[in-house]
Amino acid sequence: MKIAVLSRGKNLYSTKRLLEAIEAAGHESMLIDHTRGYMVMESGEPHVYLGAEQVKDVDAIIPRIGTSVTFYGSAMIRQFEMQKVYTTLGSLALVRSRDKLRSMQILSKHGIGIPKTAFAKHPSDIESLIQHVGGVPLIIKLLEGTQGLGVVLAETKSAAKSVMEAFYGVKANIIVQEFIKEAKGADLRAFVVGNEVVGAMKRQGKEGEFRSNLHRGGAGELVKLTRAEKSAAVKAAKALGLSIAGVDMLRSSRGPLIIEVNSSPGLEGIETVTGNDIAGKIVKFIEENIHKDERSKKDK
Ligand code: ADP
Repeated sequence: MKIAVLSRGKNLYSTKRLLEAIEAAGHESMLIDHTRGYMVMESGEPHVYLGAEQVKDVDAIIPRIGTSVTFYGSAMIRQFEMQKVYTTLGSLALVRSRDKLRSMQILSKHGIGIPKTAFAKHPSDIESLIQHVGGVPLIIKLLEGTQGLGVVLAETKSAAKSVMEAFYGVKANIIVQEFIKEAKGADLRAFVVGNEVVGAMKRQGKEGEFRSNLHRGGAGELVKLTRAEKSAAVKAAKALGLSIAGVDMLRSSRGPLIIEVNSSPGLEGIETVTGNDIAGKIVKFIEENIHKDERSKKDK
């Protein structure tokens, strides 16, 4: 098979590992920088080009799309989907998972545990919002934020009000969320491939920090997930239509609560902490699933 990784850099850890794993499994690997590729459409013939060359004979793609290029990246994935190329990440699932609010709505509809979350835009609703999420302390999140930037812990009602007013004042979209204090500045990252959690780690924020993001100085360590945590992670990925996902959750007194589902999860932290060959599992997943869609269509 020819399997292409859509990624902006061949020197990125995750990209390197995926390319290696593709070759190690006896396939042909290809790197496509989705920001350099372009798309040409005419009736019945959607094509992808890199420079003057048309990209041909790709059997499967593994998209790794950064948050800053979601729109272009999703169009590129769609262009491959139109050519019936197998993808580990569908264009629709990518777009859905990038919207924190939409993800929360979908998870809530599927009965998956999440911290109580509210969304509003009118300043006169601030009091009610605070009550809905159980009062202070509470969490305020900018919908456009990543890597823990734009996540605020408001410890008093007056802090909560003034931060919300400030965000509303600059027309920023924010969600207000119940603060899970039992999590003690730690979250769990479960790496899901298909129906399985193939690796998990606990990320602990540094002293005095409620955010556990590795980018914010948090550290990852090996953790054994409970059955409920594994099941919540797999269900969350499924609900969002993702076959590969990094599911982040908090350990709360009422069980696991999902805070985010990442559709292009990094491999470096999780492979280092667990020692697992996760890139290899992704390639294996493609081998096992690439023909399933066609088979199930024929069965009908
Ligand atoms: P980002 O997408 O920017 O990483 P997250 O929603 O993952 O934003 O939040 C960043 C970190 O803040 C999480 O990893 C977690 O440690 C902490 N956190 C987020 N939401 C809550 C919450 N409701 N209660 C307690 N801690 C939280």
